[in-house]
Amino acid sequence: MNIILSLPAYLIVFAFGASIGSFLNVVIYRIPAGLSVLHPPSRCPHCLTRLSPSENIPVFGWLWLQGRCKHCHAPISSRYPIVEATTGLLFLFIFLTFPTFPQILGYWVLFSWLIALSLIDLDTYTLPNILTQSGLVLGLGFQLSQSLTVSSPLNNGLMAGVIGAVVGLWLFEIISLVGSLIMGQTAMGAGDSKLAAMIGAWLGWKYLLVAGFIGCLFGAIVGGGAIALGLISRRHPIPFGPFLALGAAITALWGDKILSTYISLFFPIVK
Ligand SMILES: [Zn+2]
Repeated sequence: MNIILSLPAYLIVFAFGASIGSFLNVVIYRIPAGLSVLHPPSRCPHCLTRLSPSENIPVFGWLWLQGRCKHCHAPISSRYPIVEATTGLLFLFIFLTFPTFPQILGYWVLFSWLIALSLIDLDTYTLPNILTQSGLVLGLGFQLSQSLTVSSPLNNGLMAGVIGAVVGLWLFEIISLVGSLIMGQTAMGAGDSKLAAMIGAWLGWKYLLVAGFIGCLFGAIVGGGAIALGLISRRHPIPFGPFLALGAAITALWGDKILSTYISLFFPIVK
């Protein structure tokens, strides 16, 4: 496709993703606090002044305000435009990666949930049930729609999603239990197994294992690195949700390549 001709479409997809990112910022801030995500409209968290439509434009609103509330001049975290820009770029990448609209829409939903859950876990060390449970139901719905329409490499139908959800729940409960026995403290929060169940519903049990493996790998590297560098103490809790979500994101995009490379490396005879 001609890149110049496609540019307006790319910009629209990015702008749409950035708007969703703007809404995710609201979700990340309000759901753990038990507030409604719809009312009241976006406002300065410091002086509670309602944002005007121009101030509410994703990424550019923050740049235009130079990172400060126009009314009370309280600094506005740079995380807001970063989440908006990242969501926009991920939406565009998904748009360019997947061939059919139901798949694109499905992965937009999955990635939105993963972004919200990751940042809530970083902020509060919790993964709200309302998000993991709704994400699980949406994942099973996605599997059902996929088995009715197209066959994708990641898709083995609704059954794979159901098994994935069960494996996610049980496997991570077991890992958590073993971790607690070995380390004498809870290795993972109760929310992690529910997040794993949600990811299993979306990706199926096989790719859930890939996602879990990648998540543990990143968690061990980052957590181990932070302890080795003296940034945090050994007893400091590290939220596992963001790593699991990262594993799921990588697996959703490249799981097929990762799995086939792994199999050809370690089981060359199996075709
Ligand atoms: Zn303000």
